[in-house]
Amino acid sequence: KRIIIAIDGYSSTGKSTMAKQLAKALDYIYVDTGAMYRAITLFAIENDLIGPAGFKKSTLIGELPNLNLEFKYNASLGFSEMYLNGRHVEKEIRTLEVSQFVSQVSVVPEVREKMVALQKAMGKNKGLVMDGRDIGTVVFPEAELKIFMTASPDIRATRRYKELLDRGADISFEEVLENVQARDYIDSHRKFSPLKKAEDAVVLDNSKLNQDEQFKRALALAEE
Ligand code: C5P
Repeated sequence: KRIIIAIDGYSSTGKSTMAKQLAKALDYIYVDTGAMYRAITLFAIENDLIGPAGFKKSTLIGELPNLNLEFKYNASLGFSEMYLNGRHVEKEIRTLEVSQFVSQVSVVPEVREKMVALQKAMGKNKGLVMDGRDIGTVVFPEAELKIFMTASPDIRATRRYKELLDRGADISFEEVLENVQARDYIDSHRKFSPLKKAEDAVVLDNSKLNQDEQFKRALALAEE
């Protein structure tokens, strides 16, 4: 039986690694909802709607109907990539700049409404692994398997720091740690769909289990 697997948790807890591994093993579709919020944020940055000078929230809300977010499957990578109005933006949405503004954009109720509607529509195809912050609580409260991933802020910032360095970013560990902590705070204290564990979610703690052990546990749960 093909099911929906919802994976939630703080940033850089290894959600996407886990989700991709599961999708591959089960031959399911993987959807990275963080990429969708990141793509809207990139749009806002590029159009001077958000930046150090402030946030033109109502202009962004007005633009939402014209924003086209799409996942296209990349066969050589084995998973889908994000396109914003037809443009491949996988690299651009992963910068520290986008990470710094994404929480502000994702608290906007109109933004969440649009994202959640798109995500629910993707659930028509069973055989789906979706990761994010509100998948088990808001997008698919009926998901057959919910996983909530955690790890210490230090471990997560180290992971994120390595990723950014690999992409050639010029940043310090402290900046990354601050960003991870700031996003945790906003993501878990916002009014609309705050990050929280669904009651029936299984907790996987990255500080205790290694990646392979976690994956084996999750796969066993999916195959139950
Ligand atoms: O998962 P990732 O770190 O790429 O997500 C980036 C940001 O997008 C999060 O910090 C959060 O503010 C937002 N997000 C969200 N709801 C989701 C997925 C991501 O609010 N389902």
